[in-house]
Amino acid sequence: MLVVMKAQATPEEIQAVCDHIVQLGFRPHPLPGAQRTAIGITGNQGEFNRGNLESLSGVAEVIRVSKAYKLASRDVKEEDTVVRFANGAAIGGRDLAVVAGPCSIESHDQAFAIAEQVAASGAQFFRGGAYKPRTSPYAFQGLGLEALKIMSEIRERFGLTIVTEALDSETLHLVAEWADVVQIGARNMQNFSLLKKAGQLRKPVLIKRGMSATMEEFLMAAEYVMSEGNYEVILCERGVRTFADHARNTLDLSIVPALRHVSHLPILVDPSHGTGRRDSVLPMARAAVAAGADGVMVEVHDHPEKALSDGPQSIYPAQFSVMMQELGQIALVVGRRMPRGVAVEDRQ
Ligand code: PEP
Ligand code: MN
Repeated sequence: MLVVMKAQATPEEIQAVCDHIVQLGFRPHPLPGAQRTAIGITGNQGEFNRGNLESLSGVAEVIRVSKAYKLASRDVKEEDTVVRFANGAAIGGRDLAVVAGPCSIESHDQAFAIAEQVAASGAQFFRGGAYKPRTSPYAFQGLGLEALKIMSEIRERFGLTIVTEALDSETLHLVAEWADVVQIGARNMQNFSLLKKAGQLRKPVLIKRGMSATMEEFLMAAEYVMSEGNYEVILCERGVRTFADHARNTLDLSIVPALRHVSHLPILVDPSHGTGRRDSVLPMARAAVAAGADGVMVEVHDHPEKALSDGPQSIYPAQFSVMMQELGQIALVVGRRMPRGVAVEDRQ
C-alpha cells in the first residue's frame, strides 16, 4: 500500500499518518518527492487493511502497489534516487559516477599508487576489496581491517569516496565504520540476514546482481535493505552465468533500461567482472553509459600481472584515463555529464 499525501500536507499530518500505520502493526516509510510525500507501508502481518486511512487529514489517496517490490518501485517514488556524498560526488542524477580501483587492497603502496592515478583521471570513487569472496579457501582472502584503514587514508589524501564489500554480518559494522558505501557482493545478493542488517545501517549500500538472479530477485534484494529503513541503495549489474564461453560472465546491459523503467534506484555497471577480460572492459563501459547506466565500476591495477586477484580483467591506469575521456564524450550524447573529479593537486 502507498499513501499519497496532498502537496500541501504538513509535517504534523505526515507524522500522524505514520503513527496510525504503526498502530495498525505495519511500518511506514515516508518518501519525500519533488511534488508531495508518499508513505510506503510494509509489514509481514498479511494484507494491510486501509481502514479509515483515506479520511485522515492531509491524505490525497491510498493506492495498492501490486509489484512484489514496493519501496524500490517507481510506483512508490517517481523521481530517480540520487545518493549524495560529502565530497560532492553523487550516484544517480546527471553526473556519471565512476568507481575505480583494484580488486583487492594488497598493500599500502599498491593502493596509494592506483588511487593517485584514478583520482588524477577524474574518478570520484575508489574501490578495493578488504574482505574478498574467493572461490578457493587457498586464494588471497584480503587484508581485512588493515585494508579498511588504508582506504580511509586514501579518502583523506585524495578526497575519494570509498566503496568496499562486506562479506558477512561479523564484519559488516567494521566495513560500515570505515567505508562510505557498503558493497554486498553477487554471492551474497540473497543473503537475507546480511541484507536486513545492511538495511539497519545509515550508509549507502551497493548491491551487485547475483550470478543467476532475475530482475525481480535483484530488486527484492534492494527491497530487503529498504524495508529496514535504509533507502540509499545502488544497484550494480555485473554479469550473469550463461552458456557463453568467450567471457567470464555475460554482461546483461539490457537490464539497465528495464530496471530504470520499474525502479527509481541508481544503476551502475561493472564491466570488469561482467567480462573478465581487460580488452572487453572499455567497449562494455562505453556501452553501459550509452545504455543509460548512472556510472561504472571498474578494476584498475598498475601491475595486473602481479595482482593477487582478478589481474586478467584489471585495466592499466593509462587505459582508465582513456576510458574517462571516452565516457565523457558518450555522456553528452545521452544527456549526462562526466564530473570534473576531485581536485587532486589541491589536496597535496
Ligand atoms: C567485487 O566487486 O570485488 C566482487 C567480488 O564482485 P562480484 O560480487 O560482482 O563478484
Ligand atoms: Mn574482482
